[in-house]
Amino acid sequence: MVTVQSGAKPLLGLSVDELTAWVQQQGQPAYRGKQLYQWIYQKGSKSLSEITVFPKQWRETVRDFSIGRSTIHYRAVAPDKTVKYLLKLADNNIIETVGIPTEKRLTVCVSSQVGCPMACDFCATGKGGFVRNLETHEIIDQVLTVQEDFGRRVSHIVFMGMGEPLLNTKNVVKGIKSLNQDVGIGQRMITVSTVGIPQQIRQFSDYQLQVTLAVSLHASNQMLRKKLIPSAEHYPLEKLLADCREYVNQTSRRVSFEYVLLAGFNDKTENAVELATHLRGFQSHVNLIPYNPISEVDYQRPTPLQINNFMKALKDRHIAVSVRYSRGLEADAACGQLRASLANSSQN
Ligand code: SAH
Repeated sequence: MVTVQSGAKPLLGLSVDELTAWVQQQGQPAYRGKQLYQWIYQKGSKSLSEITVFPKQWRETVRDFSIGRSTIHYRAVAPDKTVKYLLKLADNNIIETVGIPTEKRLTVCVSSQVGCPMACDFCATGKGGFVRNLETHEIIDQVLTVQEDFGRRVSHIVFMGMGEPLLNTKNVVKGIKSLNQDVGIGQRMITVSTVGIPQQIRQFSDYQLQVTLAVSLHASNQMLRKKLIPSAEHYPLEKLLADCREYVNQTSRRVSFEYVLLAGFNDKTENAVELATHLRGFQSHVNLIPYNPISEVDYQRPTPLQINNFMKALKDRHIAVSVRYSRGLEADAACGQLRASLANSSQN
């Protein structure tokens, strides 16, 4: 089998028309474009050499191109059937992807970067630093990999793996368009989660996608937020919320807010009251995420009672709210944790 070489131009991410143009450039008849498209997106071919409908001699000559698929470096299954993957990219970098099944849905949590530069205090990925942005094909590949491994269609995608998607907007948007058009996933089934980057929420709305924007708020005031999220220093909470309101006006889509609950830090009823004041009359939904402990910091997860109190304080103030427990905790499936724990164990 021809191995994917770093630097080989990837075909994954190209549309049927672009693939048709490419096969013609390679001296092949136009109908082979459609064939190639089917082998890449439906049959999940990993390399051109597998595409047996193509002349063998030609397959062996196109060495500067690869399909652009990763390999599964590590796979862990949690008791709740959540599967966490470490995927190895062509340049040997490793990223995390998670497949989260329920009876009706198969959700993929995808990464948008190798590592992350945002360095949020409670996030395992942030502790590992930033390496690079993911290319479009590396984003699409994660979804195909989970789909093939589960043998079942992916229904939902959340950009909640490693990285900050709005620092890689161009590739993320291209990835979303291809996942929609070529892999067949509805844009409304896709959520992009951002910590908030100045100007980027506005730019993102210009693409007029039908996806859901989730904003990681995590605090009810600027002072608390700055303690958790270094970049908040340059993006005051008031400004971030104003940009979110503008986003709702521009797109007519509601925004989700994520709020990691950290015991004794941001989980008091007065924080819920303050948060409700900010979100009054706002077309939004709050997702409370009880903190998943990571080894580098000593925050605590609040008790179920405290989580309920916080939720009730929001509900009483007519804020749409739900609690989202991370799936697959046993497989260290939460945010950057598997890669970190594997790196630690290989050091031991
Ligand atoms: N950079 C994007 C995507 C990050 S991961 C963003 O900030 O939104 C998706 C969500 O998981 C974010 O809300 C992130 O803050 C949250 N998260 C990170 N580490 C966590 C932890 N240890 N426990 C609970 N949630 C965590």
